[in-house]
Amino acid sequence: MIIILLGPPGAGKGTQAKRIEASRGLVQLSTGDMLRAAVANETEVGNKAKEFMDAGKLVSDDVVIGIIEDRIAQQDCEKGFLLDGFPRTVAQAEALDEMLAKKGLKVDAVIEMKVDDEALIDRIAGRYTCAECNAGYHDTNLKPRVAGVCDSCGSTNFIRRADDNRETVVSRLETYHAQTAPLLPYYREKGVLKTIDGMADIDDVTAQINQVLDAL
Ligand code: AMP
Repeated sequence: MIIILLGPPGAGKGTQAKRIEASRGLVQLSTGDMLRAAVANETEVGNKAKEFMDAGKLVSDDVVIGIIEDRIAQQDCEKGFLLDGFPRTVAQAEALDEMLAKKGLKVDAVIEMKVDDEALIDRIAGRYTCAECNAGYHDTNLKPRVAGVCDSCGSTNFIRRADDNRETVVSRLETYHAQTAPLLPYYREKGVLKTIDGMADIDDVTAQINQVLDAL
């Protein structure tokens, strides 16, 4: 099964992708996570991507298409995967369709997580992750069960993303509306777009996604 989670930054794509990965065995492929790892490791791709990411702009299509093409060729993707943060432009969506067609595959569903822009800034400004296992948390919406201790792995080491600040968020939202929102009509025309309410609470959003997946 090949699923795309689509929505603006802060819609909850990463949180939901991790839940679905755990419950359904679909591998989560997050280009944002892959690029952040490249930046941290100071690879050639990472060094090129950093300035775009810090400015809330998109990294070039060629770079992210190459990253995804290499990743989906790996064995753990054979049973299906869940894309989180890719595609983000129509050119990326077309490239994805092409690479899947070569393998006799296609996108099964694109789940649009619909949210209000105003809510996103607070969601993003409050979020942080476990530095060890990458589990996501939020200052008010999703605190660890024991303050300062990761629920998943027990680590006490947490990090905030460099681009999760109010100034960069505005630019990331503009980028979403200008470059990524055109994917909605692209996938609607293909009959694979499913829209869910991303403003509901986290468990309810998971339930809505599961309903879509169960109906496939
Ligand atoms: P994310 O973690 O998905 O919010 O991505 C963080 C940043 O990585 C974005 O603001 C972009 O700069 C870059 N990025 C992630 N995925 C893509 C993509 N598919 N195309 C272009 N840039 C991307």
